[in-house]
Amino acid sequence: MSEKSIFERIIEREIPCSLVYEDEHCIAFHDIEPQAPVHILLVPKKRINRIEKATAEDQTLLGHLMLKVGEIARQEQFAERGFRTVINNGENGGETVPHLHIHILAERKLQWPPG
Ligand code: AMP
Repeated sequence: MSEKSIFERIIEREIPCSLVYEDEHCIAFHDIEPQAPVHILLVPKKRINRIEKATAEDQTLLGHLMLKVGEIARQEQFAERGFRTVINNGENGGETVPHLHIHILAERKLQWPPG
């Protein structure tokens, strides 16, 4: 595996984050460059570089992350007004950190199609 990702450094508390949620499988924190009034990143502690690198072994973890999206939306009290989840994948997808993460964007009206 290549050098630690910035998210592994956050998970290991080498660098700080604005924590939203954490359990043994994942961590959620506020994005340092928010693209909406609320912009949270939900990151599995296991490093999976990209969604297409996930395997059948990761099925339970991926399901866990999906459930946590909803829980975080309720915990942070924007679920009822709606929100968007995004996974940027690879160069054309706009990915900059090679460690799977789900963006959760909320509290503004988002456009479709995305830019
Ligand atoms: P992506 O472009 O989909 O790979 O998303 C990576 C995200 O990580 C970007 O939205 C960055 O703003 C965010 N990011 C990078 N470094 C940090 C950090 N130290 N704390 C919080 N968010 C970060």
